[in-house]
Amino acid sequence: MRLDDVRVHYPDARHETDGSIVFECPLCRVEGRLGKLVKLYINGAISCPTYAGMPDANREHCRPIRETLGQISNPRQAFIEKVLFDGKLILEVAQAERGKVRLVARNCVSVFNRDVISLDRAKERNDFIKGILEVDDNGIPNFDDKQLKDIDQVIKQLGDEYDRVSAAIDAEDAGDKPTVKVISKMLDDGRILEQIAGGMFAVYDPQRGEVAYHRKVETDEAVYRPLDDDFVLKGGLFLPENLIEYGDEATLDAEIEACIYRHSDVPDRERRLSARYARLTYIADLLEEISYLRATGERGSGKSRYICTTGMICLRPILVTSPSAASLYRMMDAYHPTLIIDECNLAVGNDDTQMMMMVLNSGFQRIADVSRCEKGNDGQQTVRMFSPFGPKLIDRDRAVHQKVE
Ligand SMILES: [Zn+2]
Repeated sequence: MRLDDVRVHYPDARHETDGSIVFECPLCRVEGRLGKLVKLYINGAISCPTYAGMPDANREHCRPIRETLGQISNPRQAFIEKVLFDGKLILEVAQAERGKVRLVARNCVSVFNRDVISLDRAKERNDFIKGILEVDDNGIPNFDDKQLKDIDQVIKQLGDEYDRVSAAIDAEDAGDKPTVKVISKMLDDGRILEQIAGGMFAVYDPQRGEVAYHRKVETDEAVYRPLDDDFVLKGGLFLPENLIEYGDEATLDAEIEACIYRHSDVPDRERRLSARYARLTYIADLLEEISYLRATGERGSGKSRYICTTGMICLRPILVTSPSAASLYRMMDAYHPTLIIDECNLAVGNDDTQMMMMVLNSGFQRIADVSRCEKGNDGQQTVRMFSPFGPKLIDRDRAVHQKVE
């Protein structure tokens, strides 16, 4: 890109010694951050210092600049174009936040509609197509019913195609850096990643006091991505869809208590305690020890209901109805969940029961490791170490319930 071409749009543009071009970020200037120098690299990449180290946010932030400079086909970004009806309509799909795409409908002279939508949602596609029709009185050709159907069809296909292209680009993107899949991670710079639903991270930046949402987070060492194994994809792990401000702790406790009250019948004292316990699970990784919440009571007194209601409010709840010790280990290791346990399989003398008791007896402390012994085919014992720290909720008498029901 030539300096003069850039100066047409950004008059203060100048060359750096490395061949890149810099100019004041017009987007940051509008938002009151003056003097931020956007850098246009020789390979076409654009970067604003406000979003250093946040590739996804940077790409989104710099998009208007890229469009102004006519670099829509940035090679690092998935971009697809479809030409319909001999050029009467051109559809463009590019990356946007939170699993959505930026969809543009245009011909070679004007833009009919642009929006950020989910391509797999019929309503959003319809609204977008309606938006194309609305600009009709500006001399834009009419589309008949058949053509409108075609447009919807093509937009749907674009969705599939876009997924494939972006997956391919993502794979290249990582470069030499290892990809690390995590459910939760505190980065060296203080940012906290927490996996939420839909294969996204909520990323809290303590310096900016803000939460952003990303499909991956790149640092100097690695590219972090959310877990995407079968268990997570099929919804075995309950994850929040987004994060909201809760006000103060008293308000939050009141809301949690109200939720428990709606779904379960427990005495006031237990309800208040449960609300605090649910909140505690969210800071379990800051603690050296944690208590278990255990329901005891008469048959049919609603223990299961109570334990599930409270449990599902906790951090990353997993409901285990008849856990074997082995599956329990795998889950704790992979997801650091809050386990909601039915004791229905805890037959006395059973190997799994003994293992489970070991887990429960020592699993409340971070420092405790449980050695697991397994008999191999040759009768030799192999030993593995696990660290089963994590909150657990237990419904002791579920087994009895199930027999009765
Ligand atoms: Zn900027």
